[in-house]
Amino acid sequence: MVGKEKAREKGNIGIMGGTFDPIHIGHLLAAEEAREKYNLEKVYFVPVGYPPHKKEELLSHAQHRYLMTVLATVNNPYFVISRIEMDASAHTYTYTIDTVTQFREILGPEKKLYFITGADAILDINTWKGYDELLQLCYFIAVTRPGYSLSRLEQKTSRELLSRISILTIPGVGISSTDIRERVKENKTIKYLTTSGVEQYILKNKLYCS
Ligand code: ATP
Ligand code: MG
Repeated sequence: MVGKEKAREKGNIGIMGGTFDPIHIGHLLAAEEAREKYNLEKVYFVPVGYPPHKKEELLSHAQHRYLMTVLATVNNPYFVISRIEMDASAHTYTYTIDTVTQFREILGPEKKLYFITGADAILDINTWKGYDELLQLCYFIAVTRPGYSLSRLEQKTSRELLSRISILTIPGVGISSTDIRERVKENKTIKYLTTSGVEQYILKNKLYCS
């Protein structure tokens, strides 16, 4: 969890939101590449609680998604998990603008905040609640993702807001959580698509079987 004492530290902070159902190599690589390129002192992974764009009944329980995120990030000293959205009151939609506002309040005005997304997510930016304001509150790092072209981004947002978004080319990882869930359902291997801890957690808890 973000602590008030952190406000005194100087530096850049990354925030990566997602459903993480489950977390996979694409998420981890995106966060690590962003950390290195932007000299981030920490990357906070923020599993969503009740996302407005996904049906809650189709999501795994937040505790499973949280624990898998913990398992996947345990060996990276720069990665931290925030329960900020998960612990928000049940059945209240969680919006990125509210999350980033809370990070800003807790970490103080000096930190440079970078919200990390994949290409698919940034292409939807103009549907996000308060996106104008959000782009004033933090910078965005949009990482490349196979199957999504960022060339359309310019048509989607103004030049001024575009200046707050940086594109980061990462080695293409054609993996999605949807694919992993489907593979598990079809009894196919998910080895190397996520970490072995997450793979074992999924099998042990019989996630995504039905
Ligand atoms: P789902 O298939 O359930 O939508 P997902 O793989 O897209 O899952 P999310 O939790 O929706 O994962 O994504 C969280 C963030 O990570 C988003 O900003 C998304 O664009 C980014 N992301 C996910 N997978 C990749 C990938 N393979 N490469 C780059 N970015 C990714
Ligand atoms: Mg997604």
